[in-house]
Amino acid sequence: MLDYQLVRSARRKTLLLQVKQGKVTVRAPLRLPLAQIKTFINDKSAWIKQKLAEQYLTSQQSNTVKPMVFTHNSILFYLGTEYRLNIEYAQKSIVHIKQSSITVVLSYRQQKNLKNTYDLAQQVKKSLAVFFKQQLHNYLLENLPILASKCQLSPKFYKIRFYKTRWGSCNSRGELNFNYLLMLLPSWVIDYVVVHELCHLQQLNHSLMFWQLVEQHYPDYKAAIVWLKTHQQRLIW
Ligand SMILES: [Zn+2]
Repeated sequence: MLDYQLVRSARRKTLLLQVKQGKVTVRAPLRLPLAQIKTFINDKSAWIKQKLAEQYLTSQQSNTVKPMVFTHNSILFYLGTEYRLNIEYAQKSIVHIKQSSITVVLSYRQQKNLKNTYDLAQQVKKSLAVFFKQQLHNYLLENLPILASKCQLSPKFYKIRFYKTRWGSCNSRGELNFNYLLMLLPSWVIDYVVVHELCHLQQLNHSLMFWQLVEQHYPDYKAAIVWLKTHQQRLIW
């Protein structure tokens, strides 16, 4: 049986399960029979274990936060999944993804200009930036029209660029900017960011009206925000 804290309250009408910082809390109506609560927890035990495992992992990771290093065998996010970075050399430079690794192939000519490991890391980072830009370009080419028609909001123009601290932006001329590091996120979170910026075409602020609009076009937006918050330490370039 799982370890949990039971909190009963007269005002509560339904059972509520919370998993926070590795602790399980069950909130229950005052007079609900214990057997019923136990069955409820039993039914949810797989979900609880999954949550506990996730939270354990995140707490481990946030204890060992290091900025991305771009060295051979370091870990990198791509579409929300961890990949091992593989650095190789060949005639032509290219980046490709296979199974669980992202391979950055540098050309022999690039290799000649590298004086130390810092140079190498910078070159790898540059290659990945070019690759992510291209990938995001393809992603938006396919998905932006779909999301725009769903929201019935269309940008005049959009650009892909690098931001240190934001995923996208919108200005009063109806132009959107997207950070190419969006490629680090799972596609459903990328879609949230796109919808968020599209909604700014109608509401250029973060008012209640704006968030209602976001919710209307992307009902699960809170989960996306949580994903971004939970992983923010791992998304720093
Ligand atoms: Zn915004």
